[in-house]
Amino acid sequence: MKHFTGKGIYGAIAIGEISVFKRHDIKVKRIKIDNPEKELDRLEKAKETALSQLEEIYNKALVEVGEANAQVFEVHKMMLEDEDYSDAISEMIKTQSVNAEYAVATTGDNFAEMFATMDDSYMQARAIDVRDISNRLINCLAGNKSSGRGAGPRPGLIICADDLAPSETVSLDKDSVSAFVTAYGSSNSHTAILARNMNIPAIIGVGKDFLDGVKDGDIAIADGFTGTLIINPDQVTLKDYRQRQEAEAEKKELLQKLKGKENITLDGTEINIYANIGNVENIGSVLLNDAGGIGLFRSEFLYLENKDHPTEAQQFNVYKKILESMGGKKVIIRTLDIGADKQAPYFNLEKEENPALGLRAIRICLTRPEIFKTQLRALYRASAYGNLGIMFPMITSVSEVEEILNICQEVKSQLSSENLPYSDKTEIGIMIETPAAAIISDKLAPLVDFFSVGTNDLIQYTLACDRQNPHIDQFCDTHHEAILRLIEMSAKNAHANDAWIGICGELAADTTLTETFLRMGIDELSVSPGFVLKVREKVREINLGK
Ligand code: PEP
Ligand code: MG
Repeated sequence: MKHFTGKGIYGAIAIGEISVFKRHDIKVKRIKIDNPEKELDRLEKAKETALSQLEEIYNKALVEVGEANAQVFEVHKMMLEDEDYSDAISEMIKTQSVNAEYAVATTGDNFAEMFATMDDSYMQARAIDVRDISNRLINCLAGNKSSGRGAGPRPGLIICADDLAPSETVSLDKDSVSAFVTAYGSSNSHTAILARNMNIPAIIGVGKDFLDGVKDGDIAIADGFTGTLIINPDQVTLKDYRQRQEAEAEKKELLQKLKGKENITLDGTEINIYANIGNVENIGSVLLNDAGGIGLFRSEFLYLENKDHPTEAQQFNVYKKILESMGGKKVIIRTLDIGADKQAPYFNLEKEENPALGLRAIRICLTRPEIFKTQLRALYRASAYGNLGIMFPMITSVSEVEEILNICQEVKSQLSSENLPYSDKTEIGIMIETPAAAIISDKLAPLVDFFSVGTNDLIQYTLACDRQNPHIDQFCDTHHEAILRLIEMSAKNAHANDAWIGICGELAADTTLTETFLRMGIDELSVSPGFVLKVREKVREINLGK
């Protein structure tokens, strides 16, 4: 039994198998060959090995995780035998005289890209499968005998990594992940946010040596309350943690009783409690936890999941689906917040010394208006299907907001001239996540319908604490008076100008501040779906009259 300690990010307990996160950067070289027949023969043998590996994994998964979850390996087998895929590889070997590894890698990339750009979300998700079978084939060509599991679902995995970039987390099969443990990372990193969104424990900042002490298949306990990772626990410890898990499940069950109840204080003050999501798949969790709406849809994840700029049609379909699924409840979609730690390679952003202070979010949109207009067209077109609010990130000035409003007007006029419907009731909001925006909130409020405070960035920029840096957590006082004053100032200025104000940063779920926020007059708190009922419970205990 081994112990590692870091910082617990989400209070929950997971018991499962360790899976050490490996970056899928298998390096394949293009080699000119003079005997294509020999390469085709190698390819055929590798395929046979891959097929028998998949058969073996399928049978194992069938026993361990049941038929529904094992099915993915059958799909992989079918893909591996697919004629189009196989022919494309063989043709490339024959016509270009290249090594089999290169032909497999290139064909895999081409097919994955093709899937990723399809309109149907099921087909889009197949991109990962194609990459997975191509990597398996390349491994077999290299003589690697380990069958591995690939990317298929396998409930209960505790993912261990040095750190996870947002672009890496989007490629994880979320259904199989039961916890994250990282050597680095900070409380406000996107890995931490993802864990909260998924309601699973995360332990960060365990230190780089921990990866030497874990291996695939180790049984482990991840305790997100205390930040402890226990490898190969003894029977007594396991029993103890199973009991704690049960007690937690009971507490959750009790919270379910709050479903359908109002978010109202003892003295009658009401507040909206919405949910933050990054993916259409999270909507189930929003509805399950009875959120009153979506307070933040991080649209950049749509861009991170794609190999190229998502088209207007692709975006329209996603936004429409969210709006329709929420059946008239408020849905706030934030325009893309790419840059800093959220990098999509096809944006070709230059490497920056201080990326958090660089070309990110609205700055990219205003310097690449075509990308911005495509997103706005998709958003406005989708607005006809529900109750949409469009929100803009990283605002620092009045002129930015004026420019945004002009572009919105242009997009709406264009849609009208094309006879494409949009809703005139679409609200416009900005994020208050820079000190500049909070300080000039009196000037910004008359221009918009709402503010939403992004405390993750507001804290980073106000306290000069890089949210990605795990070594300065002690200096990053999330309750710092400066932060609370900026929020209060923004609330006053919003209300003085008939705008409403919400908080969508992680601080919104900090129930030790709920009363403070209510006293400031905050109208909405938007939190990870799993926190909605906890915040509701807190609100219902508060008496502002006292
Ligand atoms: C924030 O900064 O608080 C926020 C909600 O946005 P993100 O975490 O995506 O930067
Ligand atoms: Mg932010």
